[in-house]
Amino acid sequence: MGVLVRFDFADLPVRGALVRLDQAWLNWWQRLGLGGPERTMLGEATAALPLLAANLKFRGRMNLQMQGGAHLSLLVAQIDHQLQLRSMLQTRDEPVPADWAQAVAGAQCAVLLDPESGMDRYQAIVEAGGVSLAEDLERYFLQSEQLATRVWLAADDAVATGLLVQRLPGEMAEDDAFETVTALADTLADGELLATDPDLLLHRLFASLGLRRHDTREVTLTCRCSRERIGTLLLSLGEEDVEALLAEQGRVEASCEFCGQSYVYEADDARALFTAARAEPPSPTKH
Ligand SMILES: [Zn+2]
Repeated sequence: MGVLVRFDFADLPVRGALVRLDQAWLNWWQRLGLGGPERTMLGEATAALPLLAANLKFRGRMNLQMQGGAHLSLLVAQIDHQLQLRSMLQTRDEPVPADWAQAVAGAQCAVLLDPESGMDRYQAIVEAGGVSLAEDLERYFLQSEQLATRVWLAADDAVATGLLVQRLPGEMAEDDAFETVTALADTLADGELLATDPDLLLHRLFASLGLRRHDTREVTLTCRCSRERIGTLLLSLGEEDVEALLAEQGRVEASCEFCGQSYVYEADDARALFTAARAEPPSPTKH
C-alpha cells in the first residue's frame, strides 16, 4: 500500500503533496524483475504520478509516457482518480546509464489527461532530458499549467517517494512565500526523503510555516489487465490474424506489458470470442 498526503499553509499561497510507496513498490519491481538504474527510474516515475494527479479535478486517467530515449526506449506510468497506479519500462539492449539526461536523451515526454466523459482528452508534450525526471516534470507544470512547481523524487529497493510544492494559482507576486517553502524543502538531506515517515517529514520541514495537513489517501499499485481485456484485444486484431496465430501456435498466448501476467486462449475459446461478437449488435460505447 502507499499514501498520498496533501497539504498547504495557513498564511502562504502554496500547496503540496507527498507520496510514499513501500511494500507495494517492492512487490511491483520484484514482479517486473528490475534492478539498477532501471529500478530507480521506474520508481521515480511511479512516485511522480500520484503527485501529478494530487489535484486532478475529473474522473478518469492520467498517463506519463517517455518514448524513444537513447537507452530508455519506453517508460509509462498511469494513474486514475482512485489513485490506482501502474507502470512499466523497456530498455534497449545495452545497460542503462544511471544519469537521467543520458538515459532519456532524444525521448519525447507526453502527459495525457483522459477524462471518463464530458471533457476532451488533453495531451502535453514536454521536452525530456533535464538533469532528472523531477526537473522534466517541473517544466511540464510551468508550461502546461502555468504553475511554478518544484518536485523531489527518490526510489530504492524498498521505497518510492516524492514531494511536490506548488505556488497556488491566481495569486500574484507571492514569489517570496514559494521561495521560503522550497528553500526549506531543499534542506532535505540525501536519503532523508526515502528514510522518513511522511507525517514526520512534513512536520520536520514545514511546521514553522503554519503547515496544514489535509487528507491522506491510499495509493495502490495494481494492474488493470484481465482476461476480458485480452479478449477485446484479440477481437480488435481480427479473425484472420487470430486464425493465423492459431495455425502457427495452436493457441493464443498474450502477456500484459505492465505486470507480465500471461493469458492463454485455447483455439476454441479464441473462436468463441468472434462467434459471440457476431451474435451481438455493435456496442454504442467504445469501452
Ligand atoms: Zn497487467
